[in-house]
Amino acid sequence: MSIQNNLLEIKNDLPGHVTLVAVSKTKPVPDLMEAYDAGQRIFGENKIQEMADKHEQMPKDIEWHMIGHVQSNKVKYMAPFVSLVHGVDSLKLLAEINKQAAKNGRIIACLLQMHIAEEDSKFGLDESELQQLLESEEFKHMENIRVTGLMGMATFTDDETQVTKEFTRLKAIFDSLNELPTTNNLQPSTLSMGMSGDYKIAIDCGSTMVRIGSSIFGSR
Ligand SMILES: *Cc1c(COP(=O)(O)O)cnc(C)c1O
Repeated sequence: MSIQNNLLEIKNDLPGHVTLVAVSKTKPVPDLMEAYDAGQRIFGENKIQEMADKHEQMPKDIEWHMIGHVQSNKVKYMAPFVSLVHGVDSLKLLAEINKQAAKNGRIIACLLQMHIAEEDSKFGLDESELQQLLESEEFKHMENIRVTGLMGMATFTDDETQVTKEFTRLKAIFDSLNELPTTNNLQPSTLSMGMSGDYKIAIDCGSTMVRIGSSIFGSR
């Protein structure tokens, strides 16, 4: 199967309200261009330098999403162009994104990453940390970021019941976020959950954005 065929097959399968992020980390530019030529305009990368290099080389109508763990000292390299940062899991990181966004005269959209998996190796906030972050004065005064939703990763397992349970929990947190009054920097609309192995379950559980790599580009 070609990249174009994989992409079109997945796209045909997605409900209209679900956005596809083509996860292109480690893949060379010609592979990304094949997806681009098939109409894909949103790409996800997990290393800032690699994303910046690809952004340089590729057409400028692409939306670049940072899906990996972000080191504060590298935010400046993506601040001029990044469209959405999925993996924000601390106030400190949000503050740095806010600062670099201001330097570039931008408002950068961010998703807060929640810890929903059983493994403790995965990054993310728990519910009380989320609440603390949102209630902090520092957050309320950030003018150059906008929290547009949540992101999470389920446990890497074949146990569909487990995965369903974790995604359902993230959806419930997302729903409670939507009950808060919206402000300039809190406008939740996006629930980023689901990868190649579990995106169908994620969509059944309420995902609005899936991050799919290997099913499009092949294994890494
Ligand atoms: C690599 C990655 C994906 C895509 O994984 P696949 O299994 O290749 O679809 C999605 N989300 C994050 C955060 C990733 O790092």
